Amino acid sequence: TTAHTVDPAELLRRHRAVTPAWLATYYREPIELTHGEGRHVWDSAGKRYLDFFGGILTTMTAHALPEVTRAVAEQAGRILHTSTLYLSTPMVELAEQIAALSGIPDAKVFFTPSGTEANELALLLATTHRRSNQVLALRNSYHGRSFSTIGVTGNGSWSPTSLSPLQTLYVHGGVRTAGPFAQLTDDQFTAACVADLEDMLGQAEGTVAALIAEPIQGVGGFTSGPDGLLAAFKEVLDRHGILWISDEVQTGWGRTGDHFWGWQAHGQAGPPDVLTFAKGIANGMSMGGVVARAEVMDSLAANSISTFGGSPITCAAALANLRHLLENDLQGNARRVGAVLREELEKSGLPVELRGRGLMLGVGLRDAATAAATLEHARELGLLVGKGGRAGDALRVAPPLSLTAEEAREGAALLIEALRRAQA
Ligand code: PMP
Repeated sequence: TTAHTVDPAELLRRHRAVTPAWLATYYREPIELTHGEGRHVWDSAGKRYLDFFGGILTTMTAHALPEVTRAVAEQAGRILHTSTLYLSTPMVELAEQIAALSGIPDAKVFFTPSGTEANELALLLATTHRRSNQVLALRNSYHGRSFSTIGVTGNGSWSPTSLSPLQTLYVHGGVRTAGPFAQLTDDQFTAACVADLEDMLGQAEGTVAALIAEPIQGVGGFTSGPDGLLAAFKEVLDRHGILWISDEVQTGWGRTGDHFWGWQAHGQAGPPDVLTFAKGIANGMSMGGVVARAEVMDSLAANSISTFGGSPITCAAALANLRHLLENDLQGNARRVGAVLREELEKSGLPVELRGRGLMLGVGLRDAATAAATLEHARELGLLVGKGGRAGDALRVAPPLSLTAEEAREGAALLIEALRRAQA
């Protein structure tokens, strides 16, 4: 059994005061993290873990990255005032850099404090631009927890209400291993999904505003269609004037190794009309945003501001983090070290399904019980990984992007041992 790292009285306090209760079901005994460095974190009992999950949460590059710490401290000592009513140089600089990196021509950026708000705004822009509240989303998707974003979240366990201000049509394309799609080749799968999309559009009455899609489904368990699927979708969307929103909250910033953005695995399609980002861009500070073609971004008729979106302190953190990422070619690192990680898991001969790419590696398992048991064993061995999947039946491996090859081998060995103990 695992030693208590958290006082039970403290747990009770937490349960009385804070929703959600997810904490109660993630680990048998919750972990309280107190500090981190590089790719490691420590809990309140002093136990050290190799962090194979924090990269996708908020720690894009490394825990306690000195450049980010310095930038935050300097900015905090200067000014913290956070209103877009005034000019702020860090925000303008960051917007220019992100617009240039996005691949979207004539791009403008709107900063938000979270991924949910980024997608909320993307949907607001698309529905306003197209004068329609009808949208397309992929089954098994996750786009946030606000009223609109829940309305495009196809993963049932994350949709606490079925009411929505949007009319959503769910299409196939995210999950390849379920139902009648399991036996299809890449080309057959793509053709089936395109036929499904065309069929859906044939049924739809009136205008459809947009398709929102994760290039690799994050919460959904790192599942995706074949490369090029979204390009095939794009051809259909273009015929109908439907906008493409790429949710890059998990797939952005080089995590997939081969590409800077997830949509580039569907490169022939060209850039999406709208791209959303969040999570690790400011390495732990609260930041999200929308990049869109100016014509789409400017479709809001009235003023729209966010008090905390693009605050000087989060922008200073993001600028330092992004500089570190680019100067150290962490995208290349994700490709190289991700390959090491995948190879080690393949060599293990364990009957698991490997998904994703780069440092976004999914491990599909038999069932949720096996995933939960593996998570516990990994914890005991000193490794943090994430859960996910359509039925909670997958593990998510997404370390900070500075992971070394040695750490990849070490972590893979721990994960393989945890999987063996769980009899995966
Ligand atoms: N989109 C995707 C793909 C996500 O994974 C998440 C968070 N899990 C969100 C949107 C929502 O981001 P946030 O939690 O910052 O609101």
